[in-house]
Amino acid sequence: MTVSDCELCTGTGGRVIHDDGRLRVVGVDDADYPGLVRVIWNAHVREMTDLASAERAHLMQIVFAVERAQRAALEPHKMNVASLGNMTPHLHWHLIPRFADDAHFPGPIWSERRRTTPAAILSARRALVPALFEALARELTAMT
Ligand SMILES: [Zn+2]
Repeated sequence: MTVSDCELCTGTGGRVIHDDGRLRVVGVDDADYPGLVRVIWNAHVREMTDLASAERAHLMQIVFAVERAQRAALEPHKMNVASLGNMTPHLHWHLIPRFADDAHFPGPIWSERRRTTPAAILSARRALVPALFEALARELTAMT
C-alpha cells in the first residue's frame, strides 16, 4: 500500500473533531457504536515504533484524553482501545465505548454480530455524542 491508495492519507477517516498538525481525532458515524472515535497520525506511518518517543507520548496522551471524555459522556461498561491496521497500515487507534447490550459484546466489534441493540437505547446514546465531540474539541485544543 502506498500513500496514494491509503484511505487515511487520501481521506479524513471520519468527522474531524481536532487536528494539531501531527494527528487528528475523528468521530466515526457507526450505527451500532455511537461515540466511536479514531485517533489518526497524520503522516503515513506504519507502527508505533516508527514514531520518535516524544511523538508516541503525544499520541498516547491524546488517546487517553479521548478515552476519559468518552467514559465521562457515555459511561460505557468497558472501553476498547485498539490499534490494528491490518487493512489500513497507517497508524491509528480505535476508541470504542462498549456496552453489554451492544451488537458484538463481549466479542470485539470486528467479530460476528451477536444481537441488535434496541433502537431506543442506541438513540439515547447517539443523543450524547454531539456534546462529547464538542467537549473533546475544547479539551484537546486547550491541551495542544
Ligand atoms: Zn496513509
